[in-house]
Amino acid sequence: MSTVYTPLSHRQLVAALTYIDAILPSESTRYSRIHTKNELYAALARPPSAADGPGYVYWMETENPDGSIESKAGFSNDPDRRLIEWGRQCYRSDFELITVIPTLHARKLERVVHKFFKIADLWKEPYCCESCSVYHREKFEVDDFGGIPGATNITEILRDLVDLGRLEFTDL
Ligand SMILES: [Zn+2]
Repeated sequence: MSTVYTPLSHRQLVAALTYIDAILPSESTRYSRIHTKNELYAALARPPSAADGPGYVYWMETENPDGSIESKAGFSNDPDRRLIEWGRQCYRSDFELITVIPTLHARKLERVVHKFFKIADLWKEPYCCESCSVYHREKFEVDDFGGIPGATNITEILRDLVDLGRLEFTDL
């Protein structure tokens, strides 16, 4: 048995990207919009990796000592377990699981979501954590984007795009 991936058609991709363009906030100050947009196009068009499969993309959030809200997006087959692991890994991470979005291609969706929020200039630069000495990535500040409800809305739109590309099993 083998698998055949049917990617988004060119027309679907163009329609999707026009829409994404319309919902993106104003020009990023840190990243060249053209460059990162090309990365998003490539991430959407690329077939899921062999290791990819059904799962969830989640959003967690925590309040920083300065009162700002820090959000984290990632993928997992079991977001509740991931939250516990995260709490063990870093005792400063008092994250609460806010939303869980099911998808057919969890790794691919995570990559696409991270690209989108990087383009939207809501990505927090990775920093070396004083609690666990790990460089924390995948963190975002989405307050200006309607908080987690806004981020979830975009994630669901991106999920619909990612899941449009179908993975089919054949008897070839
Ligand atoms: Zn840490």
